Amino acid sequence: RAAPPAKEVASVCPYCGVGCQVGFRVRDGAIKEVVGRDGPSNQNRLCVKGRFGFDYIRHPDRLTVPLIRVEGAAKDPADCLDPRRARAKFREATWEEALDRAAAGLARVRDTLGPDALAGFGSAKGSNEEAYLFQKLVRTGFGTNNVDHCTRLCHAASVAALLEGIGSGAVTAPFMAAKDAEVIVVIGARPAENHPVAATFLKDAAARGAKLVTMDPRGSALDRHAAEVVRFAPGRDVPLLNAMLNVVVGEGLYDRQYVAAHTEDFELIRDHVAAYAPEDMAPLCGVPADQIRRVARMFARARTAMILWGMGISQSTHGTDNTRCLIALSLLCGQVGRPGTGLHPLRGQNNVQGASDAGLIPMMFPDYRHTDDDAARGHLERLWGAKLDPKPGLTVVEIMGAAERGELRGMYVMGENPAMSDPDVNHARAALARLDHLVVQDLFLTETAALADVVLPASAWPEKDGTVTNTNRQVQMGRAAVPLPGEARQDLEIIQELARRLGLPWSYAGPREVFAEMAQATHSLANITWDRLEREGSVTYPCAAPDAPGDEIVFGDAFPTENGRARFVPAGVTDPAEMPDAEYPFVLSTGRQLEHWHTGTMTRRAGALDALEPGPTASLSPSELARLGLEPGQRLRLATRRGAIELAARADPTVPDGQVFVPFAFREAAANLLTNPQLDPWGKIPEFKYCAVRVEPL
Ligand code: SF4
Repeated sequence: RAAPPAKEVASVCPYCGVGCQVGFRVRDGAIKEVVGRDGPSNQNRLCVKGRFGFDYIRHPDRLTVPLIRVEGAAKDPADCLDPRRARAKFREATWEEALDRAAAGLARVRDTLGPDALAGFGSAKGSNEEAYLFQKLVRTGFGTNNVDHCTRLCHAASVAALLEGIGSGAVTAPFMAAKDAEVIVVIGARPAENHPVAATFLKDAAARGAKLVTMDPRGSALDRHAAEVVRFAPGRDVPLLNAMLNVVVGEGLYDRQYVAAHTEDFELIRDHVAAYAPEDMAPLCGVPADQIRRVARMFARARTAMILWGMGISQSTHGTDNTRCLIALSLLCGQVGRPGTGLHPLRGQNNVQGASDAGLIPMMFPDYRHTDDDAARGHLERLWGAKLDPKPGLTVVEIMGAAERGELRGMYVMGENPAMSDPDVNHARAALARLDHLVVQDLFLTETAALADVVLPASAWPEKDGTVTNTNRQVQMGRAAVPLPGEARQDLEIIQELARRLGLPWSYAGPREVFAEMAQATHSLANITWDRLEREGSVTYPCAAPDAPGDEIVFGDAFPTENGRARFVPAGVTDPAEMPDAEYPFVLSTGRQLEHWHTGTMTRRAGALDALEPGPTASLSPSELARLGLEPGQRLRLATRRGAIELAARADPTVPDGQVFVPFAFREAAANLLTNPQLDPWGKIPEFKYCAVRVEPL
């Protein structure tokens, strides 16, 4: 007998910031397949993660009951590497016992050591409603602004520069605007691997005649669609970009009318970039002067041009400076605010834009209102009925530093995995192990949960209703397709249970009610309601009226700054924090792969994806492998001043000589044991894309 037809539940992909709309096809309470729906950012397309990366939700490792650390079981950072040993240190508990224990530990730290001895890490993998409620709990229940999430390890530098330069941290145009662009610059990003469906729109544009310029130290699959491939020395973005600005200004290619009408401080950038002639910068950035001139002219002479960038720009101790240069290039050439133009930092996680908008950041409340802004604080104090601290909180890496020093003693972590994702992760693991009280809410006993006092089994994305906001500023509706396994609970419910135990009289009936309150705290959600999202599936913000489509392209008339003008901010050349030397002669960069997602918590438990990339590899150029006497597949050891890992060699012709690339999804060879925790001074983002490393054949 034929199986009954599967019911299709409309939702959104839980992985990257593209925000592809998916249909979860469900039969007998289980997802049988995932199909692409006709969403604005995917038009029925999906990549391999969206299509095949869903079976993690029923993996045997899934947590289905609350866990409590066994009395006297020591927290040992080595447990992060050994799930069985870690699991043996926990016992199952009822929800009442686990929630009481979790809340009592947090309250004890708050009441004995003060609110700033606590912190919370929320998640860009959850919904807007969860992000909003989580930060509200930390600010009003814990009493501190020590709340952050993975944006700090992602686009924090981009957001810092964008807020400073144009008054808004979000994209000025969706990536689909590439269809109207004559020139598309993709720099420090590998969308064919990390934003695969966005890459299809860029390839379509190139096929229709747009000139695609790819700029990166490594090659990528997008290069074969490019009119220009600019391979520059790692960490040398600023000299390259300043040299392009030098050409635009020096050859009089900039848009005088646009600059006069919409910007300020032109003289600062004009005078600054005069010292960056392409001929002088070429030896530093490794790009021939004539190519620098050619690309700068191409961009400046285009009627329409846009810039998209990724972690290669932001994950750097000069990430904010890198972004300042990109903003200056766009502004000089008047390439903002019209169809086919724009600045687009490609967001990494499915909801990193929304989680940031919802206030999951330590120095700002929802809507990017600074914590020391009296008017914003007053508004929220009235809305929330609670006193708020004007002092900015600590960021992700600062929180770990404070924990390591013993100044911060309790944490609540929801859906983040700092024991894998933080730089110099040995320190992060030691810091987590040192806490008096750690509460982790997740799907699996992650490397971070291995060091917890209480572990709360949470909901996976296909099990929940909620909204998410993608890289294009499209707020989209996700819907529960399957029931929760065992005793796992909705994240929103768990946050509320903890809040009540910490003295907050919360009684939200569900995500709809939370969304309604969030809309009062977040101007960007004006005219976007839960009902509308249920009806339309996706609405772009800002949105001028309840029945108007949102504004895809913004800042055509004015920027959201005090005087409506954008600012030029010059950037000087600084070296990466740790340069190669005789002892550590290679440059290490880390990142994602097409098949694996961040710390691997979900994708390594997704059968098809794990089969495609089953183990950790270090990618080097074939010539470097030969020079080291290594065959592809042979084991090697990578060592930096902070740690060492052993993994298989991979020959990758896209990796330049002198460089090594390692993905950070693999527990058994955690790339972040190697990385440098030095921070960008403005974005407070660590330098994941550059540190000195030694390669040793085994
Ligand atoms: Fe999911 Fe991103 Fe792939 Fe789309 S491109 S299916 S959002 S991982």
